[in-house]
Amino acid sequence: VAQDEFGIIERYFARPGASRDVLVGIGDDAAVLDVAGPIAVAVDTLVENVHFPSGLPAEAVGYRVLAVNLSDMAAMGAEPRWCTLALTLPQPDETWLEGFAAGLFSLAERHNVALVGGDLTRGPLTASLQIIGTIDREAILRRGGGHVGDDVYVTGTLGDSAAGLALLEEGMVGEGSTHVALQERFLWPEPRVTAGRALARLASAAIDVSDGLIADLGHLCAASGCGAAIDTERLPLSAELLSLFPPNVAEAYALGGGDDYELCFTAAPAQAQTVEAVLAGVGCPARKIGRLVAGTGVQVRRDGEPVVPVSTGYRHF
Ligand SMILES: [Mg+2]
Repeated sequence: VAQDEFGIIERYFARPGASRDVLVGIGDDAAVLDVAGPIAVAVDTLVENVHFPSGLPAEAVGYRVLAVNLSDMAAMGAEPRWCTLALTLPQPDETWLEGFAAGLFSLAERHNVALVGGDLTRGPLTASLQIIGTIDREAILRRGGGHVGDDVYVTGTLGDSAAGLALLEEGMVGEGSTHVALQERFLWPEPRVTAGRALARLASAAIDVSDGLIADLGHLCAASGCGAAIDTERLPLSAELLSLFPPNVAEAYALGGGDDYELCFTAAPAQAQTVEAVLAGVGCPARKIGRLVAGTGVQVRRDGEPVVPVSTGYRHF
């Protein structure tokens, strides 16, 4: 059934009950938002076969395009509020659109994010979402605020998502609960929005781990004008990851694998107890994995000795 662009957007993406600060939502030439104070804006695009494997369930694509953007809001300490969506599809497949919308809205509703505009075009499968959040002028969490001597932390566990993707690509779906747990980390990443906001006044710098720890911590270091030294013994590795892979492979996934959407942040050592208490208060585990040091780049150490990591993360081009 051929449907026009507006018919499809209205049918699958217009939801009633928009918040008071959406003066005009989906259906006009532009959305109009009632914003007081600073806003944080980010955009992220997912291309089939580049950012996710072809055949990924539509629900997971819809969920993911919002999750990666929520993760960027988390890394800034912002509160995500509104988003717009540009979707490019080979053909308007109703079952796929229903699934995509269900995945997107399941996460949007949990985070009180309103979809306020959309665009639909025909072409290779691509989902692009722009997110807008509010942010406290005095608590903008940036990559560049780190100082030599600050502790380096990561939330959650690392490497599960990259390992889960590798299992998915080998077609090892449903082969035991451990496989499933890792695959779910890839399919349904949990952006650390609450933790990001809790850290906004406490951390000196932050970034989300989308391309891999070494790559993303490297970006934080470059922006902060220093280097980092991290210890492999301190990497937070899940029991699932360690049960399926030898320690050196688990470590390589944790250091170089992307798509974890955890936060990597730094804080002055004097803040350590507060950081721990604040994150415990929002139910977010975090581990201190090293320090910011003079120099440039990320040094990886095992038992205090420098090692050369296997992979240094996803490259966009
Ligand atoms: Mg990011």
